[in-house]
Amino acid sequence: MTSLSDRRSFLAASGLGAAAIALFGCRDEAVAAERFPVTMTDAQWRQKLPPAAYRVLRHEDTERPFSSPLNDEHRAGTFQCRGCARPLFASKTKFDSGTGWPSFWAALPRAVGARTDGSMMMARTEVHCAGCGGHLGHVFDDGPKPTGKRYCMNGVAMAFKPG
Ligand SMILES: [Zn+2]
Repeated sequence: MTSLSDRRSFLAASGLGAAAIALFGCRDEAVAAERFPVTMTDAQWRQKLPPAAYRVLRHEDTERPFSSPLNDEHRAGTFQCRGCARPLFASKTKFDSGTGWPSFWAALPRAVGARTDGSMMMARTEVHCAGCGGHLGHVFDDGPKPTGKRYCMNGVAMAFKPG
C-alpha cells in the first residue's frame, strides 16, 4: 500500500499522472493503482448487479444509444452510481446532447475520477465512480456552458433518486 501511494504522490507531484498512465498502456494497472472506498471481487459484482449494469460498470461495456430510460428523466433529483449508490450528478446539470446517452455538464464534487483511455485510436477520457471505480462513460470538451464539458454516461450504470 505504501508503494502505491508513494507512486501516486510521485505521479501527482511530477504532473505526469495522465501521461504516465497512457505510457504504461495498461488500463487495469491504472485502475488497480487507484483505491476506492467500495471494493468487491468480480464475482461479487456479477452477483450484485443486473447483467447489463455489470458489463458496463465492471467491464467498460457501452449501452446502446437511446436505450436508457434515464435519457428521458427530467425530474429534479440526483443520479447515483448503480454499483455503490454514490451521488454522481445533479439533475440541474443534465442536458440533451442528442447522442442518446444521458449527458451532464458537471459531476458532483469528488463524485467521479477520470483517466486517459487509450483503447481507441484516439485518446478519450474515461470517467468512473470515485466510490467503487465502476465505469460510467467518458467526458468530452464539447459540452455547453458554463463548463464546456460533456459527461457522456451510460444510463444503465446509474439510478435516479428524485428529490
Ligand atoms: Zn460507485
